[in-house]
Amino acid sequence: MELGEQRALRVLLDMDGVLADFEGSLLRGFRDRFPQEPYVALEDRRGFSARNQYGALRPDLAMKVASVYEAPGFFLDLEPIPGALEAVQEMSCMKDTEVFICTSPLKKYDYCTSEKYLWVDKYLGPQFVDRLILTRDKTVVLGDLLIDDKDVIQGQEKKPSWEHILFTCCHNQHLDLPASKRRLNSWSDNWREILENKRK
Ligand SMILES: [Mg+2]
Repeated sequence: MELGEQRALRVLLDMDGVLADFEGSLLRGFRDRFPQEPYVALEDRRGFSARNQYGALRPDLAMKVASVYEAPGFFLDLEPIPGALEAVQEMSCMKDTEVFICTSPLKKYDYCTSEKYLWVDKYLGPQFVDRLILTRDKTVVLGDLLIDDKDVIQGQEKKPSWEHILFTCCHNQHLDLPASKRRLNSWSDNWREILENKRK
């Protein structure tokens, strides 16, 4: 790198809960499929894992809720999060900015992995399919920022290169964060400022 030359800012964007509305679809799917069963309203969601919360409500509900997101078509049919597609397009056009989508497929990956590729192609186009990283361990991916709704992101690398920006989602909105940790409340929140601040 030449002296004075600015390295591009690399932003890693999570998919579920940041670009694609996993929680909304999951609740709709669960209520459609199991109309007689109790459910967790979005405002009552706590903790990253819906499966764990449904299982705590009643043990057999864990399998039932998982069957919704493990079904073919679930990931492909997710609605975009409001403002997400516009933000990704704008961000990727910014000078000295690289955008990658960094997403963890389910352990039951049969439909999820291919449907994530199809979803990105459908909503963002083939240039973003080239920017799609599927990994169960985001800590080993290099970047400056990771925008993700999962509150705790751990893996092999104990000091990841990126700063985690917590994207607000129903399951994490009640969490008190340490002062050092930043949130992005939605795509109408000031994500541009977070990027500019990180360049300095
Ligand atoms: Mg997510």
